[in-house]
Amino acid sequence: MVFETLELAPPGPGQARVRHTAIGLNFIDVYTRTGLYPVAPPAILGVEAAGVVEEVGPGVTLVAPGDRVVYNGLPGAYCTYRNAPADRLVKIPDTVSDEDAAAVFLKGLTVWMLIFEIRRLSPGETILVWAAAGGVGSILTPWANALGARVIGVVSTPEKADIARGYGCSEVLLDSEDVPARVRAICGGGVPVVYDSVGRASAEASLKSLAPKGWFVTYGNASGPVDPIAPARLNQGGSLIMTRPGLFHYTHHRADLERGAAALWGAMRSGAVRADIRQRFALREAAGAHHALESRRTKGATVLIP
Ligand code: NDP
Repeated sequence: MVFETLELAPPGPGQARVRHTAIGLNFIDVYTRTGLYPVAPPAILGVEAAGVVEEVGPGVTLVAPGDRVVYNGLPGAYCTYRNAPADRLVKIPDTVSDEDAAAVFLKGLTVWMLIFEIRRLSPGETILVWAAAGGVGSILTPWANALGARVIGVVSTPEKADIARGYGCSEVLLDSEDVPARVRAICGGGVPVVYDSVGRASAEASLKSLAPKGWFVTYGNASGPVDPIAPARLNQGGSLIMTRPGLFHYTHHRADLERGAAALWGAMRSGAVRADIRQRFALREAAGAHHALESRRTKGATVLIP
């Protein structure tokens, strides 16, 4: 990664020029850099940022100069200024700082997708959450708690176990343990849903932790992409249901994006969810941020500051 100065054209029709104040670091940025999710190089990494609208192009009515906005899912976020499609920008509530917005907008909407849109969590359910001390985990666990669900978290170290308990996990397992055996010891016949962002290394343990008719929600590949799973494996596990969702399919329509954002801001207003930024890097130090994220040294959320 290199830091370069480029010319930026005035915002075109439907675009707004945004001065970034905080950029969200997400594991998807690593996948893009390594080529797991291919882009044609040279590319500007990053898909999430918060900032201030400085100028709008012809036909833009959703935002105006001076508005504080946040977005996710727009490639090219690792920069100081950019032109963005105005219809992907969402205004940040007065009660939420730019840094917090950049820390939660992609991860929080991902959680909204997981616990409301794919399959609504019910009070009293016990769920299994991998990487429970990570960025998504820091939102998924407390929001699931707010819906009345009990969370078993999985993490890699005792220090992260303490953090996951702080987010609201009632039990925390280390990934070096026999996770399915521990899950069954805690809740008998297995859990009704597993949220698995670790991927290749965790998929089989996730399947073995599910109760009959349970949901295997495999939504990330931090350890590498999941190996193929035969349909018969789902039947053997007890008529399991598997989905591999992507947030951007769930927020493609503006109405859905606004619905998810409203749910997230509401959860923050109620205190159910908060941004937990534990690492800040200068944008110029983005490579160091990637090293930290990939080597499992980060906890909670990370932002890059332009
Ligand atoms: P995290 O902060 O959760 O960081 C990833 C965590 O994964 C690590 O801290 C680590 O936690 C765990 N992990 C397990 N194995 C590995 C490994 N081999 N290498 C690196 N990390 C590993 O990242 P994010 O909050 O940004 O994202 C969490 C997950 O959610 C990612 O997998 C991401 O792809 C996914 N995601 C999916 C979306 C979708 O639309 N499908 C949208 C947004 C995120 P520990 O040390 O405790 O094991």
